[in-house]
Amino acid sequence: MGHALRTGFFEKPPAFDYTGLMGELTLFIDLDDTLYPADSGVWQDIRNRIDLYMRDVLGIPAAEVNALRQDLFARYGTTLRGLEASMQVDTADYLRFVHDVPLSRYLTPNPELRQILSGYPARKFIFTNGDRLHALRVLEVLELSDIFDGIIDITMLSPYCKPMPEAFDMALKFAGNPQAQQCVFIDDAPRNLIAAHSRQFQTILVGPADLAPPFAPAIPRLADLPRVLPVNRGQIVEGLHE
Ligand SMILES: [Mg+2]
Repeated sequence: MGHALRTGFFEKPPAFDYTGLMGELTLFIDLDDTLYPADSGVWQDIRNRIDLYMRDVLGIPAAEVNALRQDLFARYGTTLRGLEASMQVDTADYLRFVHDVPLSRYLTPNPELRQILSGYPARKFIFTNGDRLHALRVLEVLELSDIFDGIIDITMLSPYCKPMPEAFDMALKFAGNPQAQQCVFIDDAPRNLIAAHSRQFQTILVGPADLAPPFAPAIPRLADLPRVLPVNRGQIVEGLHE
């Protein structure tokens, strides 16, 4: 079988050879900090607005907001699911508020990523713990809107979200029930990869290799995807970066 990895580039090899998957592949790609770099400023801004919402709308004392957000995120997958479980919160109002960030200040069109993702003969879904409107706006700023076959957002996943295993079952359903083994899940959060792996998805981390679970190869940017997932039946297409 093929060797998609460039020898020496990663600290550890992936446990799975993706070569045989091509043709009926489905890609599930996270949105925030995966489709664009984690240091873009978008997520920091959203997180600040989550804190504002918790303080100003929900009336949580400012001194408690940060620790509570981290605790809810760790225990419930998202701050929203934690708030829903522990107090009255208007979900639509929350989602509208926290995602109201000036995306074009942080993001610019990404023709390189567009070319790379378009090259995969695979169905492609955004699979996000954010909401659909936010995803649509991000895709528009990046000029990737027409690349994807669909968006699976937190509203569709209710009452679940990543990394709950149920969210992965639902994602498969929304994508028309492809075999999980024929699906590649790409995310910047290791805990999401672990959940996806438990549901038989193939997984790739966008982020530092030392954070990757043993079964997942890591790439520093989504545009590096061809390094670990061959574009055309085992052949890495040359010239993608030109
Ligand atoms: Mg993310």
